Amino acid sequence: SSLQELLLSRIKDVPDYPEPGIVFKDITPLLADPAAFTALTDALADICLRQGATKVVGLEARGFILGAPVAVRAGVGFVPARKAGKLPGATLGQSYALEYGTAEIEIHADALTPHDRVLVIDDVLATGGTARASLELIGRTGAQVAGVAVLMELGFLRGRERLEPALAGAPLEAL
Ligand code: IMP
Repeated sequence: SSLQELLLSRIKDVPDYPEPGIVFKDITPLLADPAAFTALTDALADICLRQGATKVVGLEARGFILGAPVAVRAGVGFVPARKAGKLPGATLGQSYALEYGTAEIEIHADALTPHDRVLVIDDVLATGGTARASLELIGRTGAQVAGVAVLMELGFLRGRERLEPALAGAPLEAL
């Protein structure tokens, strides 16, 4: 579609970053183009409204940049899922496996309730480990998962398969 063409034209492939052999998808040109950033925000806000979400959870750090304007546009609250140790209040944490070692993300324990329907937003779905950890966290609050929405899915890494059990029928939408 023309939306996809616009978005793709503003994403830069950076070879050998952050390590040799990795092609990094750099979204900073998209963020710097108001037409593209607005089109992306509108498309994600449409998903938010269509899924009846009451909260957006943004995954640190680019999920904050994309998720916050989506929450404002859709008229719902924004909840940051942060790397461990950054939130001041009582937290719920979920660790997940990286290629080497583990990582952990946290949300404030009182940020979501069983009345919430939550849309998770991030820029890139790679292996799906980060998004999956966020779905497990959301599940522990008793909130419902409305879905996961990302700008880009790196299909060859099979993140969708890793996410599917935790989605429990909710959609994964990649623009
Ligand atoms: P995953 O947990 O392997 O799915 O990795 C997803 C996380 O890593 C997301 O928070 C992304 O922002 C980040 N990420 C992985 N690959 C890229 C990339 O090529 N460009 C930008 N972010 C990436």
